[in-house]
Amino acid sequence: MVIFPETKERRIKKKVCRKCKTVNPWTAKKCRKCGSTYLRPKKAEKKVK
Ligand SMILES: [Zn+2]
Repeated sequence: MVIFPETKERRIKKKVCRKCKTVNPWTAKKCRKCGSTYLRPKKAEKKVK
């Protein structure tokens, strides 16, 4: 069984609004909730420990 790296990357491909913390799709240029462009890439989930 091989876990494809691509699958793992897709989970990280999200953007979080710095204003309202809404999670947006990676392709989003604006926050879908407040319309802010202050989006930052979401980092890997905190499961890693
Ligand atoms: Zn927002």
